[in-house]
Amino acid sequence: MTPYLGWNYAYNYDYQYFSNINKKRSQKSYDYKVEPKDLTLELLELENLNQATSLKIKPANSSQIAIIGCGPVGMAAALWLKKLYPKQSICIYENRIDMESNSIKPFSRRWLTFIKLDSLEPILNIKDILIIKNIGLQNYIGIDIRNLEYSLLRAIRKQGIYVSQMNNKIPKPEIILDASGGRFINNNKLEIKRKLKINRRLPQIKENFGQKLSTDNKFNQFELVDFGHTIRPFNNGSPLQIPFLKINYLPTKIKQEFIYFSNELNHDYGIYYWNGVMRDDLNHALLFISLLESEFYLIDDLINSPLRLDQAWDSNLFKEKTSKRLSILFEWLLSKIEKTKMCYLEPLFLWEPFLCIRKEMYISDNTKYLRIGDSHYIGNPKVGNGLTEHLKELKNVFSRIQ
Ligand SMILES: Cc1cc2nc3c(=O)[nH]c(=O)nc-3n(C[C@H](O)[C@H](O)[C@H](O)COP(=O)(O)OP(=O)(O)OC[C@H]3O[C@@H](n4cnc5c(N)ncnc54)[C@H](O)[C@@H]3O)c2cc1C
Repeated sequence: MTPYLGWNYAYNYDYQYFSNINKKRSQKSYDYKVEPKDLTLELLELENLNQATSLKIKPANSSQIAIIGCGPVGMAAALWLKKLYPKQSICIYENRIDMESNSIKPFSRRWLTFIKLDSLEPILNIKDILIIKNIGLQNYIGIDIRNLEYSLLRAIRKQGIYVSQMNNKIPKPEIILDASGGRFINNNKLEIKRKLKINRRLPQIKENFGQKLSTDNKFNQFELVDFGHTIRPFNNGSPLQIPFLKINYLPTKIKQEFIYFSNELNHDYGIYYWNGVMRDDLNHALLFISLLESEFYLIDDLINSPLRLDQAWDSNLFKEKTSKRLSILFEWLLSKIEKTKMCYLEPLFLWEPFLCIRKEMYISDNTKYLRIGDSHYIGNPKVGNGLTEHLKELKNVFSRIQ
């Protein structure tokens, strides 16, 4: 049901951006070369802790539980398991390794989260919880994924959980938890088992955060294609796909004005302006803009890492390649944002959701295999039904066992 809500949202609000992009893309990075915003108070405190957190890995050791992927869900699962079964040996395998320093590469994704503190409170270090409690509003953690990953890694260190490099052959565990974000086992090129139709559900609120509901009947049903273990929503014979542009580090106070401007003047549908849930003096906002396929092709190669909007706009090439619709939005933002508080364009993102059905599975005959996090399903970032729900699921399952 949870992934369905994300697909349904796309059919309700984003139907005109459905795309069929098949392009070899250049390498993208989410690393900010300079700190985008002055760090103060608790955010500075967290950053000092991050800098002091060891990213070192250890040689692979035989363990009862192997977790593939040292992202937020892999680390959270390791911590819950350690809490409940302290005697079980756990090793996390990661492939983002810097061989020279024998370490995991630094965490870099500065994407704001919408995660309740109680999903994580039982597994994080107390020092981190005390800081995070001061940052987040209404019992949300508020911090971005990068800060969350560092906090989880500190807890991993404290619990003595191993992090090792992913090799072709990992010492045989009893169970593998796949938290690789869907990259450990390739879900592409599978054989179609069956197709079914599913009804679109109309929301009660017609204008959601300024986005207007599609009223076209042809989107009232969509197709689900079942590949055996994986289900994908399809549109018009192709997997559902939407290109997004994310603008990060926006001021929170222009949200209403922006939504009014973008919807009333630009008559646009694909705008999602979200104020994070950090304390006002620390907070910022992010903006998701759904792109037309043509817009994606024009600017994809121009944004390979986070790029200040004013610097992008100084480039004639960038201006030339930007559609009229996006130009209007960018110029409006530039007219409202002070130079010292500039926002950033992040590399474009192709949203291609899937759901891997949960059933008892084994690999190499008798090793149990279970997918969690983005390996289980890809949520819609505009509705926040990805990471938030993945971490909530871990908390619900493990609290029940407790
Ligand atoms: C562009 C984009 C923007 C997003 N924006 C937001 C946002 O603003 N807010 C939000 O809450 N969520 C956002 N999300 C969703 C969020 O990032 C994911 O839901 C979340 O990262 C999932 O966590 P995970 O641990 O399951 O997987 P991941 O975070 O993908 O972690 C997987 C880990 O496994 C490692 N790995 C991959 N393959 C292997 C392998 N073969 N062997 C070993 N290790 C491997 C990876 O290096 C990585 O460290 C966004 C997603 C994308 C793609």
